[in-house]
Amino acid sequence: MTETEKNTALPEGFKKRSRALFDTEEEYRRFIVALESGAAVRSLRINTLKAGETAVEHLLSHMQLEPLPYGGGYIFRSDGIGAAPLHHAGAFYVQDPGAMSAAEAVRDIVTPDFKVLDMCAAPGGKSAQLAAFLTDSGGGILVSNETDRGRAAILRGNTERMGHRRTVVTNAPPRKIAEDFPAFFDLVLTDAPCSGEGMMRKYPTAVSEWSEDNVKMCAVRQADILDEAQKCVCPGGYLLYSTCTFSLEENEMTVDAFLSRHPEFEITEVPEELRALTADGVNFEGCRHDMSGCRRFYPHISAGEGQFFCLMKRIDEGVRGSFQSKSAASPLTKDEKKALDSFFESVGLDTPPAVSLRGNIMLSENLPCPEYALCCGVCAGEVTKGRLVPHHHLFTAMGADFENRIELSPDSREIQAYLRGETVNIPGNMKNGWYAVTCGGCAVGGGKLVDGVLKNHYPKGLRNR
Ligand code: SAM
Repeated sequence: MTETEKNTALPEGFKKRSRALFDTEEEYRRFIVALESGAAVRSLRINTLKAGETAVEHLLSHMQLEPLPYGGGYIFRSDGIGAAPLHHAGAFYVQDPGAMSAAEAVRDIVTPDFKVLDMCAAPGGKSAQLAAFLTDSGGGILVSNETDRGRAAILRGNTERMGHRRTVVTNAPPRKIAEDFPAFFDLVLTDAPCSGEGMMRKYPTAVSEWSEDNVKMCAVRQADILDEAQKCVCPGGYLLYSTCTFSLEENEMTVDAFLSRHPEFEITEVPEELRALTADGVNFEGCRHDMSGCRRFYPHISAGEGQFFCLMKRIDEGVRGSFQSKSAASPLTKDEKKALDSFFESVGLDTPPAVSLRGNIMLSENLPCPEYALCCGVCAGEVTKGRLVPHHHLFTAMGADFENRIELSPDSREIQAYLRGETVNIPGNMKNGWYAVTCGGCAVGGGKLVDGVLKNHYPKGLRNR
């Protein structure tokens, strides 16, 4: 079946309930038609932390990209994009326009020194956006948390690919995060697990697993997560709540009940451009607050899948809290320090401040490091027999700054060979040692050059077949 022939059979219960979302029969009908006969939109967001002019030019000229009205977002039509060298290099992240729109709500608010928490972060699309708003040089912090261990590992992988330097990836329940980071963050994103009605065009399971009971169960869980998340917001800070579903219970009803439990929060406006691309929230019968500031991203209004978001501000006075847990990091041993210095000298950089976390060296200046952190800043690697065995993350995050760099063009056979895990012959007379491999200027990984042959250090689990 081609994309245009796609036909999704929506659950009758879902169709019936959705009528309450719209003022007119006509709009309701357009909504249902968009879900039943439209094709899911495929889009990507350029990662401004890594992709410079060369990478962007290559993407624009090779991928038939069509710009979206959100910073760096494009619709793409090519297949096999996940195996593309610039995808491996973290030049872009495949992300739905609706999902992008939620984090766009805070683009003008986040300053580079912000402390940001993403409470439900895996696989990491919105975290990647937030990290790019923060930039790497402003001293800001992103704590990117995921409660599911397997998904936290995926989140960590994406954090590495996108080259984040100031992200702490954690694996903890919201209750634990709230205990350890009371009133600590300027912004907390709660992109809550939901019934996924907005994903019905994209994932058949969103249709087959839909039930009214699940909607209600999700709403209870969302209220619990929000109650923990709000504890982490500093006075004057922001709470951004989002879901990829349409139901009132999981969206406006959750927000309305939350505002009644927490009068220190109020809904705040999102940028005008975003308002124009989304519908106002629904003022359902019996609601106690004006819900029109909530935003509904609908597939019959904008290109993309369903999304709901609501930006709230904490308006009471008070002081910012501090990190309450004991740090799991320890100072480097003499051997670790020596090995790290020697590695950084060999690639032509000064050694950044570092700590040790369970035997792994983390470049984590002024980052909190709880015991449930999987990664704190940049994982530089571990020391074996007096030498640093560099971690992949060290190359993806800092490789573009190394003096020791080997550029393999995105169109070359060499980059394909490298991504399959093969050795690559490097012409010229370059000195032996560790090198960052860059592709279109973006650091994709590393390797050790020995007499003109680059020994592959690209992680096995990431290689193309
Ligand atoms: N923000 C992510 C992104 O942009 O890629 C998507 C997050 S997804 C909608 C919700 C996440 O919440 C899932 O990864 C899920 O494992 C996690 N989750 C499930 N139950 C949870 C709970 N009780 N508390 C916190 N997070 C939970």
